[in-house]
This record gives sequence, structure tokens and C-alpha cells, in this order.
Amino acid sequence: MSIKQNLITIKQSLPEHVTLVAVSKTKPVADLMEAYDAGQRIFGENKIQEMADKFQQMPKDIKWHMIGHVQTNKVKYMAGFVDLIHGVESFKLLKEINKQALKHNRVIDCLLQIKIASEDSKFGMSAEDATTLLQSEDFSSLKNVRVTGVMGMATFTDNQDQIKEEFSLLKTTFESLKTIHLDLKTISMGMSGDYPLAIACGSTMVRVGSSIFGVRN
Ligand SMILES: *Cc1c(COP(=O)(O)O)cnc(C)c1O
Repeated sequence: MSIKQNLITIKQSLPEHVTLVAVSKTKPVADLMEAYDAGQRIFGENKIQEMADKFQQMPKDIKWHMIGHVQTNKVKYMAGFVDLIHGVESFKLLKEINKQALKHNRVIDCLLQIKIASEDSKFGMSAEDATTLLQSEDFSSLKNVRVTGVMGMATFTDNQDQIKEEFSLLKTTFESLKTIHLDLKTISMGMSGDYPLAIACGSTMVRVGSSIFGVRN
């Protein structure tokens, strides 16, 4: 199936309140352009340099989402154009994003990455740490970042019950954080293998790569 056909099929299956991020990491610009020509405007990348290169080459009405782990010293390379940073997991990183956003006179939207998986390899902060961050005065002094939601990745497993539990934990965390931070509106969870389940558990933003662009090398 073509990229265009994959996109159409997935989009038709999504409820209206769910945003599709087309995860295009490792894929050539020609593939992204095929998705663009089919109407897709939100692309997700996990490496800052690769995202910046693609940003340079592609139409300027695209919204670029950074979905990967972000190193503090690389924030400057995307601060001028990034639309949403999904993987924020420390105040230190948020502070650097604020600093770089200010240089570009921008306010950058961010999601707090919450650790919901049992695997050690998955990044993210605890619900408790996220609460502390959102309630801190240090945070309220940052005028060039806006925390608009949470992001999480489930354990890589075939156990649907476990994945469901982890997604539900993110939804619960979102609801609880929302009582102290009214800006929250986005729950970024769900990838090619588990996005229907994520949506059933309350996801409002899915990050889908291989089901659109095919398997990565
Ligand atoms: C690669 C990636 C995805 C997309 O994964 P697929 O299984 O190809 O849909 C989603 N989220 C993150 C954080 C990723 O790194």
C-alpha cells in the first residue's frame, strides 16, 4: 500500500478529537512529501539534526514535533521552528527550552514525559515529580514555554492488559495534573502497534510511523 493510502486509512479510523503525528524518522524527504501531498501537516522526528534538515527542505506550513529524547545542548537547533516537544522530563530541560525560545521571541509548547512503562529503558518523570514541577515558582517564572499535556510510552510487550494499565495510568495522571495546571489538553500516547488501545484509554494524540511509512531499517 502507498503512503497516501495508509494515511487515508488511518485518518478515517481516528475519532475527530485525536491528532495524528506522522512519525517520519529515518525516512527520506520524498516519503514525507508523499504524506504532505496527501494532506498531512504534522510530522514527528526523534533526532534534532534530522528534523532541522527536513525543516529546511520542506514546505513551511508543516508543524514539526520532537518526539525523541532531547539533549539540553541541542535545544538551540530547533527552538526557532519546533511546534511541540513531547519528551520533556526535567525542569533543567524546560528551562533551557525557555531560554532558547526567548531568543526567538517564541513560546514553545511542551509535553511532560511520564514514565508509565515497567522497562528501565523508557525515559520519563514520575507523576509526583510532574506535580512538583507544575506547582513550583521556578516553573511559573518561565514565560516562553507552555506545558500543554503529557506523553508516555507503554512497555514493549504483547500483553494487552499491561499496555492498557499503563495507558490508563497516563490518563489518570493527566486528569490529576490538570486540576493544578489548567493548560493541559493533550495526552500523547499510542504508536503503530497500540494506538487503537491508546485511544480507547483516552489518548488525544497518536504518534504513528511504520503503519504510514513502512518498516524502518
Ligand atoms: C518511533 C517512535 C514512534 C512511532 O513508532 P511506530 O511503531 O513506527 O509507529 C512513536 N513514538 C516515539 C517516541 C518514537 O520514537
